[in-house]
Amino acid sequence: MNLTQRPRRLRTDGVRPLVRETDLSASDLIAPVFVDATTDERVPIETMPGHERVPVDEAVDRVEEIRETGVEAVMLFGVPESKDERGSRAWAEDGVVQEATRRITSETDAYVITDVCLCEYTDHGHCGVLEDDAAEDPRLTVRNDETLDLLGKIAASHAAAGADMVAPSGMIDGMVGAIREALDAQGNTDVPIMSYAAKYESAFYGPFRDAADGAPAFGDRRHYQMDPANAREARREVDLDVEQGADVLMVKPALPYLDIVKEIRESYDHPVAAYNVSGEYAMLHAAAEKGWLDLESVASESLLSIKRAGADLILTYFAEDLADAL
Ligand SMILES: [Zn+2]
Repeated sequence: MNLTQRPRRLRTDGVRPLVRETDLSASDLIAPVFVDATTDERVPIETMPGHERVPVDEAVDRVEEIRETGVEAVMLFGVPESKDERGSRAWAEDGVVQEATRRITSETDAYVITDVCLCEYTDHGHCGVLEDDAAEDPRLTVRNDETLDLLGKIAASHAAAGADMVAPSGMIDGMVGAIREALDAQGNTDVPIMSYAAKYESAFYGPFRDAADGAPAFGDRRHYQMDPANAREARREVDLDVEQGADVLMVKPALPYLDIVKEIRESYDHPVAAYNVSGEYAMLHAAAEKGWLDLESVASESLLSIKRAGADLILTYFAEDLADAL
């Protein structure tokens, strides 16, 4: 036997770092932050150990804790003081995300990205204006075009409050174009849009719905979010968002959709983001609690695999822990 090819030669401790193809760093990571207008103290999120909803008064402290780990970017989600049919607190000048954004951007150097959607603000929990009788008829859900105006208003109000980037997550057709138009109309031509371009209707979002109090009161989101069975459709969705001016393309969730991350990476030159969602976080925590997996190892291996698949940025609930360990 003549083994001239021995890949093991490059696996000794000295050479491994030299030939490593993928590296994680704190600058790849975005930490989600939940700001809650209904509480004046921090509320732990049971299904997402280590995470909590914070009152507006503590938003700056929360962001500073994150920055101490080396993570400089945060994604803000809001829980409003009240909800209504159209989600009107989502674009209020004194809304929870607007107020938190104003404080964080004036008091810290964090890079603030805001979630732009209606589901946390509507009393029915859907991501837009409902069709009449939607509660009775599961075939009816949100009115696409009427929702676009509201998304534009939300994004504009976030930018006016100082948001560095906006991230529409509702999978409403035309959302990126409507938001670009609304931002440009108020002179915010420099505020980029990170589009949740390929967002699947996934059961891995479960714990987040506890965190953001955004579970739909009836029905589900399969009429606007993507079917987990579809890959070609993701390219179509991304094409449309690119045409409408998306600056960063997101795939969500991450781990069950690494093929999509890779596909988008290879087909487009835009930065690709992946959202390592609450269920991906919760399942590793649950297994670690049982002593079945080593949390730090599986968390960093998961994030490494997302990066290796082609993501430039990763939104993850592991951001702080991982950055701390780097
Ligand atoms: Zn939504």
